Amino acid sequence: MPKTLLALNWKMNKTPTEARSWAEELKEKYAPVEGVELAVMAPALDLSTLSANLPAGVAFGGQDVSEHDSGAYTGEISAAMLKDAGATYVVVGHSERRDYHGETDAQVAAKAQQAQKNGLVPIVCVGEGLDVREKGEHVPFTLKQLAGSLKGVGADVVVAYEPVWAIGTGKTATADDAEEIAAAIREALEKQYGEKAAEIRVLYGGSVKPDNIAEICGKPNVNGALVGGASLKVPDVLGMNDALK
Ligand code: PGA
Repeated sequence: MPKTLLALNWKMNKTPTEARSWAEELKEKYAPVEGVELAVMAPALDLSTLSANLPAGVAFGGQDVSEHDSGAYTGEISAAMLKDAGATYVVVGHSERRDYHGETDAQVAAKAQQAQKNGLVPIVCVGEGLDVREKGEHVPFTLKQLAGSLKGVGADVVVAYEPVWAIGTGKTATADDAEEIAAAIREALEKQYGEKAAEIRVLYGGSVKPDNIAEICGKPNVNGALVGGASLKVPDVLGMNDALK
């Protein structure tokens, strides 16, 4: 069984000064939980302060990465830069990137490949919108997105299932809904990666909080959570970490 991954997604929140206070508060109060790994996905500008101030054993990563190596791509951040800053992970294909920046499955796959080429573990996000869910097509939709987003991507990957209708809305999919898709994702991973699929973490994301994380992560095919809103305050993070004991 792989370690449970509690991945925090700060999104566009926290200046470097705020990131530093957050990391210092975490360092003061954090007690690692056996079998649980904590990782902070932060704005690129916050990574150096996280590197200097996070408690030992807490990983960090970026929220997006360029599909290119280097060069004339103004505003982009390369996988080599993230790696050099000490990142372990990078989120790719978050629904906010897909929706607001038109990222396609092929681009997400290219970003994930670029991450792996530079020694980072990509957290590849997939998940359906409300219209798809209401039509009952969430499983085939998500699996199609997954297949496109993992094309040419190696097994050293994390998959995050995030139903778009549950992100930042307070509406959480039930633990059984999460398990339904996680099990289908696992089957697809087995087809693509064989035995290695058992080691791939499948996360659930969408309004995860201290009071629902244990039930969701208790499901057999769910190996952790990607958390937005509840990642911003240290007490909530500690609450989620403790709930996974
Ligand atoms: P949320 O965000 O926890 O605020 O719903 C999750 C995410 O978008 O990763």
